[in-house]
Amino acid sequence: MMSHLFPTYSRWEIEPASAKGTKITAVDGKEYLDFTSGIGVCNLGHCHPHIEQAVTEQLKKFWHVSNLFPQSMQEKAAKLLAEAAGLDLVFFANSGAEANEAALKLARKATSRSKIISFNNSFHGRTFGSMAATGQDKIKNGFGPMLETFIHLPFNHVEAFLDEIDQDTAAVVLEIVQGEGGINVVDPEFLKIIEKACKENGALLIVDEIQTGIGRTGKPFAFQHYNLKPDIITVAKGLGSGFPIGAVVGTAQLQEAFGPGSHGSTFGGNPIAIAAAVATMEMVFTKQFLTETTTMGQYLYNQIEANLGKLEGVLDIRGIGLIIGIEISGNVPEVLSRLRSKGLIVLPAGEKVIRLLPPLNITKGEIDQAISLLKSTLADVTSAAV
Ligand SMILES: *Cc1c(COP(=O)(O)O)cnc(C)c1O
Repeated sequence: MMSHLFPTYSRWEIEPASAKGTKITAVDGKEYLDFTSGIGVCNLGHCHPHIEQAVTEQLKKFWHVSNLFPQSMQEKAAKLLAEAAGLDLVFFANSGAEANEAALKLARKATSRSKIISFNNSFHGRTFGSMAATGQDKIKNGFGPMLETFIHLPFNHVEAFLDEIDQDTAAVVLEIVQGEGGINVVDPEFLKIIEKACKENGALLIVDEIQTGIGRTGKPFAFQHYNLKPDIITVAKGLGSGFPIGAVVGTAQLQEAFGPGSHGSTFGGNPIAIAAAVATMEMVFTKQFLTETTTMGQYLYNQIEANLGKLEGVLDIRGIGLIIGIEISGNVPEVLSRLRSKGLIVLPAGEKVIRLLPPLNITKGEIDQAISLLKSTLADVTSAAV
């Protein structure tokens, strides 16, 4: 039958019928272990009862009234976000790309400058501005000339960066772990140099935490592993546990640039999504939860190293917490397809990397199950186990 959907996504062969925790059950009854969390979104697993309850309560009150009304739940969500990030002010959008659009607009207005530095292999979204910020040709091919004010530099390359940043630079935008681009972790020295150069040149430092935020790396936000003080962070994916929401979080100094009428969104800060976000943050931003995430991240990393590290086709293992990439020499789509047929769903990142984004409350038993499937599959595909 002809599909009436634009074929923008090449889809898998599994149609979900229901999902709970770490499991997706397909329409044919087959059960899968989900190590994608809906691409870093369902960080508490599918349909977590605490989120369901919060959303259900809000559904009974009101669904949408518009941002012309004050809404105490939006205030509560903003407070939780700002305090967890060590920042002050929040603007709510509906997605990651929208959060980045808002951050780019905010940086341009606050500095009265337009040049923005970003990095090769970054991913910042698919809207016109966030696409231009993205450092991957495959995202931009065919769409004509990009906005001119973005400069792309090699990631973790100090000299190239210091040559480029100047007093015309409005902002530097980067991911702490490049997610879509291959699970590339930022070099701590590089980060320090960026922070210092931004200060000296009056440029804003924007950290895109859309994939790495909300506990994914074992801290509320990934930049917190580095004693860094960004001016702006952007958040989305895991914030709403599956309900669409994005956010820009910034310092109090930026308040004037986003005054009344300067920016907006009809659906931004939607009450249902906000209820989900508050419930998500209440669960994730606790010491106990984040400690457990860190423990599971270390366990997963160690198990990968111990069981897959010596396979001939495994080239590198990298990540922080529960965002982990396994770089292989073999064909990634082929490995992913074989894993699905055995009941494990994982993601690619770039062309050579298998990306693991399990729910943050994953158990050791589930990790062991995934490791065993990864091991046998990788051994098959890369042929020779040592
Ligand atoms: C997913 C992602 C985005 C885009 O988010 P959307 O909600 O798909 O618009 C931007 N930046 C990073 C780092 C992401 O992982």
